[in-house]
Formats: sequence, C-alpha cells, structure tokens
Amino acid sequence: MEGSADNAPCKAGEGCCCSTLSDLAVVRMGWDGLDERVFATLERVLDHGGDLWWLYLSQCSICAQHWMIAQEERIYDDYFLRRLDAAQAQAIIAHARWPDEFITYERVLKLGRTLSSPYTYVEALSPGLVDTAKDLRRARPEITVEEIADLLGISPRHAARLLGIGRWKWPWR
Ligand SMILES: [Zn+2]
Repeated sequence: MEGSADNAPCKAGEGCCCSTLSDLAVVRMGWDGLDERVFATLERVLDHGGDLWWLYLSQCSICAQHWMIAQEERIYDDYFLRRLDAAQAQAIIAHARWPDEFITYERVLKLGRTLSSPYTYVEALSPGLVDTAKDLRRARPEITVEEIADLLGISPRHAARLLGIGRWKWPWR
C-alpha cells in the first residue's frame, strides 16, 4: 500500500507541516501533539456531507496544499490525510468528484488496520463499537462477522455480540 505512518518530524513554529507528511499520512488524535501542529494551518474547505460524516477537504493556509481527510474517531482515533494535487482538489470543489480512497467507512478502517492500531475500549459494548459494526453491515450487508472483527481489532465472538448475533457470554475474546 502506498504511504505509511512514518511522517518526518514537524516542530511548532516552522510554518506548516505539509512538506513533512507522507502523501498518505496518519496523524493520531491527541497523541504527541502532531495533530495540533498539522491542523494549526489547515482550513476546512468542504465537507463531503450526507452519510459520509468522516470525509472532508482541507487546504493549508501557508503553502496552499490540499488534503483530503478522513477523521476516524471511533476505533483508531486517527486522521488519514491524502495529499491532493490542484486538479484533484478542483474536481472535488467544482464537481463533487471525490477520490474513492476514503469513500466508505470500511475503507477508512482498513487503512487504520494497516497503518495504525485500534483504541482499546474499556466497555465491550461501547456505542462506538456497536454503531461502527452496524454501520459496516448496513453499508455492505454481505460483510462477514470475521471481517468486521478484523476491522475493529476485536474477536469474532465480540463482533457477533455487537451485532446482536448468537448468545455469546463472557469472555468474548
Ligand atoms: Zn502547508
């Protein structure tokens, strides 16, 4: 897969962080302060809207770089940023033509699975987990319990419980 979670260091007060980020960058929320430094100069240009609440377009106020951003705050607590060229940004702004990389929540979670590590829920049936499992199944009804478990970083038994399938009891793992 193109891109990695390895961004070059970006210190505060050096202008913007755009040139230090991978073309596909993972920025953890509230982790080491990188999110604050990156987003200090990014301005939200356009939300995708509709059901795609996680997806928006931003532009850097210093270097004018456009970024397509997926904000994944349920499972991995990451921002995924895809560097866009001017033509790609213009296609979004003028024609609502979004690259398909973050177009489903399943795709975003797959990136998280590959490039990040899931947040560990203290509550096995937390709303974030339950909602995400149900959303994944609504978006793609044929998705399997095992696939959902893999995307969420949990056991299949636990995923089945989230979906209200079976009569699983503790321990789910
Ligand atoms: Zn910049």
